This record gives sequence, structure tokens and C-alpha cells, in this order.
Amino acid sequence: MTRFNAWNVIKNGFLKNPKWDRQWRDPEPKKEYDIIIVGAGLHGLATAFYLAKNHNIKNVAVVEKGWLGGGNAGRNTTIIRSNYMMPGNREFYEHSLKLWENLSHELNYNVMFSQRSHVNLFHSPGARDSNARRYNTMLLHGSDAEFWSLEKLKKNIPHLNYGPNSRFPIMGAAVQKRAGTARHDAVAWGYARATDKYGIDIIQNCEVLGFNRIDSNIKSLITSKGEIKCKKVGFAVAGNTSRLWKMTGLNSLPIESHKLQAFVSEPLKPLLDQVVVFGVGGAHFYISQSDKGGMVFGGDIDWYKSYAQKGNLPIVQDVSEAAMSVMPCLGRVRLLRHWSGIMDMSMDGSFFICKTPIDNLYLNAGWNYGGFKTSPASGWYFADLIANNRPDKIIENHDLKRFEKGINIDERGAGPDPKLHG
Ligand SMILES: Cc1cc2nc3c(=O)[nH]c(=O)nc-3n(C[C@H](O)[C@H](O)[C@H](O)COP(=O)(O)OP(=O)(O)OC[C@H]3O[C@@H](n4cnc5c(N)ncnc54)[C@H](O)[C@@H]3O)c2cc1C
Repeated sequence: MTRFNAWNVIKNGFLKNPKWDRQWRDPEPKKEYDIIIVGAGLHGLATAFYLAKNHNIKNVAVVEKGWLGGGNAGRNTTIIRSNYMMPGNREFYEHSLKLWENLSHELNYNVMFSQRSHVNLFHSPGARDSNARRYNTMLLHGSDAEFWSLEKLKKNIPHLNYGPNSRFPIMGAAVQKRAGTARHDAVAWGYARATDKYGIDIIQNCEVLGFNRIDSNIKSLITSKGEIKCKKVGFAVAGNTSRLWKMTGLNSLPIESHKLQAFVSEPLKPLLDQVVVFGVGGAHFYISQSDKGGMVFGGDIDWYKSYAQKGNLPIVQDVSEAAMSVMPCLGRVRLLRHWSGIMDMSMDGSFFICKTPIDNLYLNAGWNYGGFKTSPASGWYFADLIANNRPDKIIENHDLKRFEKGINIDERGAGPDPKLHG
């Protein structure tokens, strides 16, 4: 496959018929694989990539019911950060951020990672104190974190609502400067291209419809392209996890599927250089500006469980109200598009990368609405788990038994209400 580099771009720019290869193949499934990953979102693709790269396991297929990157991978607001505090989480998210910092080189694909700072506003002394605790913990564990005074905030981001009568007076912000955004489609395409290069089959339009399970082993997958035998299976299907889980004959999961909407405005001249996040009580809002100029933003999940990939109008109003209270200059901007994806919300807001009651089935799920930023580390540790049949120490508590064992990795301390985790 032609490598992307300056010389090849210039050379092909002068050719009448540029010689770019196809980015990935469109193979039919083989009869059998060592490992099948279900779901060609970011987590499935990243897992396949690290299985080959880190563990030299290449007889692998990624099966996808639609097109690769057509799920949440291509629907998110692309925020990347590692401002986590709980043991396991903080190491995992920081490892992910480090992988992001070299991902374009690693994949030989520009994922447009832009470390533009993540600015978390606070509006009360209580919020300031809890942010101080979290951001100091980050510092203690080798991540970057800083606090911005109101003066510094005003200088860097002049368009926020600092008025004396603002609904939520701003006191300052907790900032992670290495955080930022990336282009989500490019990440999916980059992983797909790099994975395909190892000879791994990415099979699109191949829906998993059932499993041939004998006792505690899955022998084969029943798909819309026929039966495929395998030695090991990994689920990376995000909001569809409970559907697949049910097909295996297992009992319920500590996961609920909820919808999350995102919005993009008409393109504007440069207005915002950072990612800004605002959350007070019920109001929640995050915003950044894309390279094309659109303001990309979102808020909370819709207020009911669903597998539908479309959102409800009350949330559009709710997010608009939050936008107006923190950035009133957006009031006359026109909305270009809005869409939704299905979130795999866990009961404590933390993820699962773990073994399951079925011996050769592995689970990757519970990303809530933060699984874009985690995709490199998720693929890294999930590949490691599947290859070695034991979890790395960092993720050893991210299993299905943590609720019985009383292990607390709930970042918000919000308790078992998935609607309150983000
Ligand atoms: C609106 C929105 C905003 C978000 N914002 C952010 C953000 O700013 N930062 C952040 O970190 N995270 C964010 N997220 C979360 C993030 O996008 C997800 O957590 C992450 O993409 C989930 O992992 P994935 O990419 O592997 O999932 P997906 O892309 O959903 O991949 C799962 C794949 O499994 C496939 N599949 C399902 N069932 C089957 C089957 N039976 N057979 C075969 N294939 C199947 C699906 O078609 C899908 O392609 C956001 C999500 C949404 C929807």
C-alpha cells in the first residue's frame, strides 16, 4: 500500500491518474478465524490493529453489520481528555492520551489530533474544590492540569457569559492543555487501513444474528454472510451490547442503552480555540469549533432508554438553553445538522474490558459518552486481554464482578443511575 508522505502527495498531485491504492479490501469471510471481533467502530478496529501489532495475531476478522465507522465512531463530538481521578481510570485514560499524541504517525494517517485545551468551567466554590481534587490527582499521576483564574479565562476565551447578571456566574476553570479534538472519521479510516495492511479481514454488511454455543464455548457466529467458526470472540458493539449479550444466552448486563445527540452549526469565522465544558446541576454543555468553522456541541443524553439512532426535540431545546446561558453570542447562529448515537451507559460510568461467563467470549463495553477518547487504549488493553486471556493490572477492576466486590470506580459518585454519568 502506498505510504502517505510529502513526496507521494506531491508526486501524485502532478499525475493525471494519481496512483493511490485502495485503502482497505472488501473481503468475503473465511470459514474460520482465530479471533472474531464484532463491531467495526473505533474499539473493534483498534483491537484488531493492536492484536496484529502488539501480539502478532493476524488470523482475525472484524465483522460489521453496516459500514465501518457508521456507529458512534462517526457520530461523536470528538473530545479527547484524560482528566480522570479514580484508580485504573486515570492510568487508562492517560495511556490513551499518550497513544493519541503519536497516532497519526503510528497509523500513517492524519487523524487531525488538535491539542487545543479542554476548559472545564466552574461556577461555585464547591465545584472549584472538587475540580482541584481531581486535577491535583492528575498531576500526582503524571498528567498535565492547571487552574485558570477568571482574568486568565476572560483573556483566553472572551465570548463566554461573564456579565454581572449571567445565569451561572463563572468563577474560573480547570484546564488540561494536552486535551483536544480529532477527526472521528479519519480515526476509523486510519485504523481500518492500518489493520487491513496486516491482512486482517474487515467484513462490512455482515450482521451477527446468533451464536452456536456449546456449554461454555462459542463455536461459531451465525451471520448474514453465513456461519463463521472461531476460537475466540470479542464484543465491541457499544450501544448494541445488550442485544448481542442476549443472543449468547447470558443474563442481563449492568448496561443501559441511551441516546446522545450532537449538533453542528453553520460555519463561522474562528471564534473558539479550545474545548469548553459547562455543567451546573441539570445543565450540561460542551462545545468546540471544527476546522470547517462549524460549532460542534452537545449536552446530556435523552431522557429515556432506546436503540433508535435519532433524538428528541426537548433535548434540542435543553442544549440550546445551556448554550445561550454560557455563550449568548451563539443566539443567532443557525443550526446546520443534529444527529444521535446509542450510548452503552454503565451503572457506575466506568467501562468494561473483561472476560465473561463464556470461556472464549470477551467484553468491551460501557463507554457511556466518553468512548471516542479511549479508543486507542481500549484497543490496546482489549487486544492484550484476548491474546493473553488475563486482564492487565490497570484494568483488572473493570470487570462485571466489581459491583459484587464493592469496588468503587465511579468518577462522579453519582450512583447507579446511568443518566447521571457522562
Ligand atoms: C453524539 C455523541 C457524542 C459523543 N461525544 C464524545 C466525545 O466528545 N468524546 C468521547 O470520548 N466520546 C464521545 N462519544 C462516545 C463515543 O462515540 C463512543 O463511546 C464510541 O464511539 C463507542 O465505541 P465504538 O466507536 O467502537 O462504537 P460504534 O462506532 O458504535 O461501533 C459499534 C459497531 O458495532 C456494530 N454492530 C452492532 N451490532 C452488530 C451486530 N449484530 N453485528 C455486527 N456488527 C454490529 C455497529 O454497526 C457499530 O458500527 C459520543 C457519542 C455520541 C453518540
